[in-house]
Amino acid sequence: MDKLVLGRDVMNEEKKIKWSKSSSNIYEKFAAELEDGIETGSKVTSGDQDVRYGVSLWRNRLEKKGLKMNYDIAARGLNPDGNRFREWKDEHYSSKLYYRTCELRKTVYSGEKKIYSEFDNMDMYQTVTDVISGVHVDEEIYCCPNCGANVKIKELVEGCPYCNTYFKMSELYPKVSNYYFLRDYSRTGSELKTEIWKVLAPFMIVWAIIYTITFLSSMHPILAVIAGSIGGFITGGFMGYIFWAYSKLGGLFKDAGKSIGLLANVAGTMKNFNSYMKKYGQDISYEYFQAKIISMIKVVAFSDSPDELPIYDGPNINGYFDDIIDMDYRGGLALRKISEQNGMLQTTVDAFMINTYEKNGKVKRREEKVHVVLERKLDVPVDLVFSIKKIQCPSCAGSFDATKNKVCPYCNTSYKIEDMDWIIKTIKIEK
Ligand SMILES: [Zn+2]
Ligand SMILES: [Zn+2]
Repeated sequence: MDKLVLGRDVMNEEKKIKWSKSSSNIYEKFAAELEDGIETGSKVTSGDQDVRYGVSLWRNRLEKKGLKMNYDIAARGLNPDGNRFREWKDEHYSSKLYYRTCELRKTVYSGEKKIYSEFDNMDMYQTVTDVISGVHVDEEIYCCPNCGANVKIKELVEGCPYCNTYFKMSELYPKVSNYYFLRDYSRTGSELKTEIWKVLAPFMIVWAIIYTITFLSSMHPILAVIAGSIGGFITGGFMGYIFWAYSKLGGLFKDAGKSIGLLANVAGTMKNFNSYMKKYGQDISYEYFQAKIISMIKVVAFSDSPDELPIYDGPNINGYFDDIIDMDYRGGLALRKISEQNGMLQTTVDAFMINTYEKNGKVKRREEKVHVVLERKLDVPVDLVFSIKKIQCPSCAGSFDATKNKVCPYCNTSYKIEDMDWIIKTIKIEK
């Protein structure tokens, strides 16, 4: 009995929450899959098609530059296993925004050499999207429309494993459609203690030495050390505490200052967006749109040949983003313009990002805006019923993943997916 109680206490004391890939919680699964996706290239199955593709291109970019990134997300802080934060619904989708406290540690290696590292306490935000009226079919067995093999629907997403035929198919929900990190200033009691002591200790030691040396001239050495230590403890502790509080406040103000521009721009965007979209008969929630845009930006920026992407239709930008090795979304979009012309809806948006660049072994982080102009055909319906369509080149009949490449790899004929969602017409980075 005693042993049991003791065992429980020890466990509480030592309890470390670990988010794992095998978790039944989609939030935890995604965080763990994201780490692995960047480090080893494994599939982020809990992310939607866009997020998944963005991560695989990101990993390709790192590999191509001869870099390796360790991406560690560890649960910590006041809210390591917290719940839903906000929730939205439009006609078709429900989105739930979750956040939890964690530590994010990124280390970049060029070969064996560590060239960059950063770590901070963060809130990790994830948007989990689900269909309201649709059905969950990912585990269902489907007869491949091409070769007739029985395949799980979730496997067909990557092309039929038997006949290599590719399909354009609906997303299998629920999926993580967006994620980002914002700095977390909250601390648990023990985190706060450790943090304060780390600052106080050097102050105390320095003052203890100063006092001891001063006292030595007029006191017995042992007494001088005792008196010096007490003096160091009080004076050093006091000064250290003031220094800690001051630096903490400074950091807070610095971050707040940086965010003012962002907040001013973002405020109103959500409301404007929803009412404009309704006006054009599009019941798309801001969250759905935001997730889509962030994914599209990452896909374009991490792609080696963005000009060949089906989601991009604009002037040549091959090479423009080649030195970007990481993009952190700062959680804000500013809607600049919405207009309608010839059945096309056009929107202009600035996304607030922190971009990390690598050139010749030097890594730099920059706060930047990504300016994007997007278009969507107004009469494209949002597909709700599960749909699957074979992709076949009209010229050579070859099948390939046309959601990732607009040119047939066999005969170079360009292929256009009907009913495309948003397409990027312009994309550029602004300071
Ligand atoms: Zn097949
Ligand atoms: Zn072809």
